[in-house]
Amino acid sequence: MKVILQGTRGSYPTSNKNTEFYGGSTACVELVYGEERIILDAGTGILNIDTENYKGKQEINIVLTHLHMDHIQGIGFFSLLFNPNNNVHIWGPGGSSTSLFKRLGKFISPPIFPVPLRDFPCNLKIHELTNSTFTIGSFTFHSKFICHPGPTFGFRIECGSKVLTYIPDHEPVLGTIDLFDDIDWISGYELALNTDLLIHDAQYDQEEYSKKIGWGHSSMKLASDFAKKTGAKKLVMFHHDPAHTDDHKNQMFDKFKESNTYDFPIELAVQGKEYDL
Ligand SMILES: [Zn+2]
Ligand SMILES: [Zn+2]
Repeated sequence: MKVILQGTRGSYPTSNKNTEFYGGSTACVELVYGEERIILDAGTGILNIDTENYKGKQEINIVLTHLHMDHIQGIGFFSLLFNPNNNVHIWGPGGSSTSLFKRLGKFISPPIFPVPLRDFPCNLKIHELTNSTFTIGSFTFHSKFICHPGPTFGFRIECGSKVLTYIPDHEPVLGTIDLFDDIDWISGYELALNTDLLIHDAQYDQEEYSKKIGWGHSSMKLASDFAKKTGAKKLVMFHHDPAHTDDHKNQMFDKFKESNTYDFPIELAVQGKEYDL
C-alpha cells in the first residue's frame, strides 16, 4: 500500500513560510492500493487530495479517529461530498448517547457552517465504530479506543502482507513522562505491535510534555519509546505543534537524537511525503 501524508499539523492549520516544510495542513493521510483509496481523518489536509484520482469511483471512504476540529475541519469543503453520484462513507467513533451523525452535524451546520450535513448532495452513510475489526475493500482495520480526551481511535490497518498503525493523537501512558514497563498499562500497545510503519503523535519535547501531561499528546521520546516497546519497524512523528516553526522542529529533533538512540528509523512527518509499504 502507498501512504500519503496530506496533512501533518495538529490543533490548527498554519500558513506561513516558517512552517511550510513540515506543512501547515491538519491531520489527513491517504491510503492507496491499486485502484482503491481510503482517507484517514479529514483535517484541512483532505483539501490537498487530488480528487481527479477519485473520478469514476462512487464509494468514498473517510475514516475518522475522533471529532476534534483539526481532524474534521476540511470535511465541509471536500468536493466529493457535493457530487450526488457519490456514496460517501464516514466511519468514526460510536458508543456515545448522541449519534455520530448528530455530533458531526453540530459542527457542520449553521451558524458555524452554512450547509447542514443532512443537505450535502452525496449519499452519506455513517458507520459508528467501537473496538472492532472491519474491512473496506482490501484493507482490514482494527479499531481500538486509545488515551486522548473524548472518544478517540487508533487504527491498525492491514493490507496485503503490510501493516500501518495510525495513532495521530495519543498519550500511551498517563501521569508520568516516561513509558511504563507493564504493557497492560500502555494504551494502543496491540495496535502497533510489530507494525511496518507507525504514524504517531510526537508534538512535544520532554520539557513541554512535562507541563502538558493529560492534554492528549506525546513527546518525541514517549512516541519513540512506545515504538520501541511495540517493535514498530519505522516511526513517523506526526501532529506537529502549530507554534513550532520548521527551524524549531529541526532543533527539537536534533536535540532528541543527541541523547537518544534507537535501532529503527525515525523521521518527522512532512506534508506531501509518500511511503511505499
Ligand atoms: Zn489532533
Ligand atoms: Zn485530538
